[in-house]
Amino acid sequence: MARGTRIRAITPHVLMAELPEPFAYSQAWYRKRGAMLVEITTEDGIIGWGEAFGPAELTAPIVSWLAPLLLGEDALAREALWQALYNRLRDHGQRGLVIEAISALDIALWDIAGQALGLPVHRLMGGPLRTEIEAYATGFYRRDREDHLAYLTEEAEQRLSEGFRSLKLKTGWGLAEDIALTRDFRAAIGPKPGLMVDCNHAYDAVSAIAYGRAVADCGIAWFEEPVPPEDIAGYQEVRRGQPIPVAGGEASFTRWGFAELIQHRAVDILQPDVAACGGISELKKIADMASAHGMRVNPHVWGTGVALAASLHLLAVLPDNPPGLFPRPPLLELDRSPHPVRDALTAPSVLSAEGRVAVPEGPGLGITVDRDALRHFAA
Ligand SMILES: [Mg+2]
Repeated sequence: MARGTRIRAITPHVLMAELPEPFAYSQAWYRKRGAMLVEITTEDGIIGWGEAFGPAELTAPIVSWLAPLLLGEDALAREALWQALYNRLRDHGQRGLVIEAISALDIALWDIAGQALGLPVHRLMGGPLRTEIEAYATGFYRRDREDHLAYLTEEAEQRLSEGFRSLKLKTGWGLAEDIALTRDFRAAIGPKPGLMVDCNHAYDAVSAIAYGRAVADCGIAWFEEPVPPEDIAGYQEVRRGQPIPVAGGEASFTRWGFAELIQHRAVDILQPDVAACGGISELKKIADMASAHGMRVNPHVWGTGVALAASLHLLAVLPDNPPGLFPRPPLLELDRSPHPVRDALTAPSVLSAEGRVAVPEGPGLGITVDRDALRHFAA
């Protein structure tokens, strides 16, 4: 064992903030927004940070339950520890909250490994293939206002002026309204910006196919989560029945969950979330499986700077698909919707004039977590 890398303490942090203006996606309204961070400390004082996607009040107790399995173990033995955690709860938690908790622990262990060896995480994984990543803007949620196109257009103008070249529109407000909104939004932003749509599984296959056909001439790069994540056959029907590439995977978990999506060719673009799918270790395995099957990967990202940094290190090493002189690199999902915890917790992500974000170069994740923000937003 490397000197001093025994795990001494594991602390989950549940953070919560009220939102100045509530917003909705197709499944629920957000009136507050939270985060669950995991802090792992080693015997010689290295501190690693991880983050879990999903309800913070529910993932934190799972981290506390798993913590005794890790205390005293070598933090560098990431693979062995991942298997120990997963195997311990395999019969009870193959997806969802348990895997989200394991994701946070795994990310923190990578942060520790990088700091112990003085290297950024992407170099531990054999990278970088690329040192900066083109970002697309996530946001464009529903607000409790009358004229939706007005604030969405204003938001689009702001993002494009910041340097973004692609925007992702939230849909899922009813088929007729979605078709009209998509057409109006495309008309408002003009033909040049990239446009994705995400209905967060608000449709069944019949409606998703009708939507995809109705907006086929709007230049849409991908149609995200058209149907519920359990409906693999529905995904296949949507892929066959309309022309827009289908994306999904933010509600899928581990190599086994993604193997199902891959084997059934359920999507064109896989979207594992590092803070949900099983962590950095698992997302790399999923990406390698996708590479072996010729499928694109664009990770889902929706958290604080901890999950963002972990995603950037992965994006630095994801294989080009297909490889060549002019590859299509994976994109970074950069969430610009309101998140007071995110904004205070780490230094903000910097977007270049070309809409790119640099991969962190410091040891581990290469981030600094603000202790005042941890105290201020503690739930
Ligand atoms: Mg989504």
